[in-house]
Amino acid sequence: MAINADVSRFLKDLLDSSELNRLPVEYGGHRLFKEPVIGVSAGNDPIFAKFKKVVTPTHLTPAEMWSKSASSKRSGQDDLPIGSPQPDAGTWSDLAELAARLKVLSIVFPYTRSILEDGSRSTKRTPLTGLALNCAHVFHTEVYEKMGQFFIDSGYRIMAPQKSRFHSILLTFSKPHLVSVWSERHYAFAAGLGTFGLAEHLITEHGCNVRLASFITDAPLEVTPRVNDDPFANCLHFATGGCAKCAARCPGRALTKDSHSKVLCEFTRRKVSATIREELTPFLKPVNRHVWYFNMEDYAIGCGICQFDVPCMDRNPMADSK
Ligand code: SF4
Ligand code: SF4
Repeated sequence: MAINADVSRFLKDLLDSSELNRLPVEYGGHRLFKEPVIGVSAGNDPIFAKFKKVVTPTHLTPAEMWSKSASSKRSGQDDLPIGSPQPDAGTWSDLAELAARLKVLSIVFPYTRSILEDGSRSTKRTPLTGLALNCAHVFHTEVYEKMGQFFIDSGYRIMAPQKSRFHSILLTFSKPHLVSVWSERHYAFAAGLGTFGLAEHLITEHGCNVRLASFITDAPLEVTPRVNDDPFANCLHFATGGCAKCAARCPGRALTKDSHSKVLCEFTRRKVSATIREELTPFLKPVNRHVWYFNMEDYAIGCGICQFDVPCMDRNPMADSK
């Protein structure tokens, strides 16, 4: 029997009860995320092969990520509780057989109204929204741990690709671009949770100003269908040629109507973060990112200016045209 409803209930209770799902009281103590939405894709969805073309040739399928991580755990190189599946979990020699047993659970966490309103009042990154991103990273670590334990206690195997030693951000040199070997956005698209916008973020039914997470598991989750195979169906610019309000808000020319440079975006992110970092220092927690498979500590304040005060901030602007 599918366990989607149990997973949604567990997540809702976690978000309702966790103190980490809140800003510090000095910044109002507001809740970070409202009720999350889940989507599920089959481990052998043929669309994953396309991700190696559109993201990067080193982008991993669920079976590849699972199998590499399980082998690493077997050889004692990885003792994270949910970064890798249990040592016995990747013993299938046939990746196709393994893929058929797996599911990818993707989760959309929409920010609450108070955070969206704060970011929409300014054309700059506000301290509150920068702090919200840092707090979101810390809260997600709790989500990974508690969700992982929930599945294990229910008798299933699970891993969190974000926590695997095989997860990394890479720089491609042929055309300078930052890519991930596990794109949360692409897996959420595969699970029918949204489509891409001009800024390459995912426009969900709760908009683009969301955080994403995913797990791979052998639990009996029911696959959620993709409403649309058009990867840009929810973006006004791709539908009408207009809008581009996200590009107009970008302070670093990283995003224009014609292009999005993730390298310029990263450069701008660092500059924007520096403007609010000092004020936030007492409240910030370090966050680990894997870059070129090395652990790098960061304070994850972000930029994200293109995701506030735009038509797709908190809704799918194409919803009425379906
Ligand atoms: S602001 Fe407009 S152009 Fe930009 S992603 Fe949203 S809908 Fe698309
Ligand atoms: S995150 Fe910032 S720099 Fe990057 S595209 Fe959006 S507004 Fe521009």
